[in-house]
Amino acid sequence: QAYLDRIAQLNPALNAYVTTTPELALSQAAAADAQRAAGNATPFTGIPVAHKDIFCTRDVLTACGSRMLANFTSPYDACVVERLQSAGAVMLGKTNMDEFAMGSSNETSYFGAVHNPWDQDRVPGGSSGGSAAAVAADLCAIATGTDTGGSIRQPASFCGITGLKPTYGRVSRWGMIAFASSLDQAGPLSKSAEDAALMMNVIAGADARDSTCLDIPAEDFSAQLNQPLTGLRIGLPREHFSDGLSSQVQEILQLAIKTLESLGATVKTVELPNNHLSVPAYYVIAPAEASANLSRFDGARFGYRCENPVNLEDMYKRSRGEGFGDEVKRRIMVGTYALSAGYYDAYYKQAQKIRRLIKQDFDTAFKDVDLILGPTSPHTAFKLGEKNSDPVTMYLEDIYTIAVNLAGLPGISLPAGMLGGLPIGMQLVGPALSESRLLNVAHQFQ
Ligand code: GLN
Repeated sequence: QAYLDRIAQLNPALNAYVTTTPELALSQAAAADAQRAAGNATPFTGIPVAHKDIFCTRDVLTACGSRMLANFTSPYDACVVERLQSAGAVMLGKTNMDEFAMGSSNETSYFGAVHNPWDQDRVPGGSSGGSAAAVAADLCAIATGTDTGGSIRQPASFCGITGLKPTYGRVSRWGMIAFASSLDQAGPLSKSAEDAALMMNVIAGADARDSTCLDIPAEDFSAQLNQPLTGLRIGLPREHFSDGLSSQVQEILQLAIKTLESLGATVKTVELPNNHLSVPAYYVIAPAEASANLSRFDGARFGYRCENPVNLEDMYKRSRGEGFGDEVKRRIMVGTYALSAGYYDAYYKQAQKIRRLIKQDFDTAFKDVDLILGPTSPHTAFKLGEKNSDPVTMYLEDIYTIAVNLAGLPGISLPAGMLGGLPIGMQLVGPALSESRLLNVAHQFQ
C-alpha cells in the first residue's frame, strides 16, 4: 500500500508506470502475508516489483511502448513474470519504455517520455527508462528490464541504480516481446548488486519454451557476494578511456579503480580494437532482426487495426503506418533494406563478420584479465529533447554497451559517483556466465 500511495503521488510527474495494478498488488500482498505466516516465505515473498511493459502479463495490458499494442492483453505471463510471481513477488504494474525497446532516452514511447527522478527536465535513459526511474524514485523495490544494446545498463547509469544484463540465454525470453532475438536479454534493475543477485536466483535458468535459453544447472548468484577481491585482475580497455570520454567521467572512474585496488584488485590496459565497429554492426543486425520480428504486427493478429480498411493490403499498410512510431519505422526500413536480395552480402553478412571479430576481442582480453571495467555511458543524463533531432547521435549513446550484446556477454552497470548533481555509472563486463563474479565485485564496491 505504501508503494501504491507513492506511485499515486509521484507517477503523474515521472510517467514511469504506464499501467498500475493496485487490486492485483493488494491481493498478491495478502497472499504473501499468508505464505509468510505459514512459514513458506522465499526471499521474494511480498517484494513489490514492476515489470517493463515488454513482458507479457496475463489479463494486464502489455503495450510495449507502442500504439500498435496499446489495447493488447496477453493470454499468458512471460517466463520472468511467472517465476517472480511463483516466488511470491507482488506486481505493482508495468513500466514505460521506448517503443518496442528502440531508443536510449525513453522518448520514443507512445505513452510519452519518462522524467528522470534526479532532474525532471532530463531523460532517465532507455529503453528500460520507466523501470530505472521507478526503482530510483522508490516506486517499486526492484524492476525487470531488457537489454538489446544497453537498455538495462544505460538507464541504470542515468538513474543511479544497478542494472545487470545477463549472458545471452541465461534468462528465458519466453513472453518477452522480441526486438532483436539474437541480442535481447532480460535482467534486473535494482538498488544494489545484492538485490540483483536475489532476482537472478528467481528469473535465471533453463526454460524449454525458449530454445536459446541455456540448459545449465541453477546457480546461487548470492553465494559469492562476500568473496574478497584479492587477486582480481581488471582490464581497462584503451578504447573506452580515449578522447570520447570526458575528463570528469575519467576522474570518477579512476577513483572507483583506486577503491577496487584497495580491495585487492590489480589493473592493466587491454585492447578492444574493433569496439568502434560495434554501433555500425548493431544498427544493421538489430534492425534486420526487428524487421522480421515486427512483421507479425499486421493489424490482423495483434493490437491496432486501422479504421475501415478497403482490402487486405490497405489494412496492412494503414495499420502499420498508423500503429508504429517514427523510430520503429526507421528500423523496419533499414532492416528490410539490409536483408534484401543484392544487399544482404554487403550489409548483413559483413555485420555478422564484425560481430565475430568483436567477440574475439573479448576472448583475447579475457585471457589476461577476469573482467573489464569502463564507463557505461559517455555522460550523465541529458535534457529531454536534446538528442531527438539526430538519430545517429542517439545511436552513439550505446558506444560502451553494444559490443557486450554482440558478444553475448554479461555486463553490469553500478553507480560510480555523481557529476553536477547527477549519477554516473560504471560498467563491468565478464566472460560468459560470470554473473556471480560481476555481482561479487559490484557488491564489494558498493
Ligand atoms: N539504444 C539501443 C537501441 O535503440 C538499445 C536498445 C535496447 O537495448 N533495447 O536499439
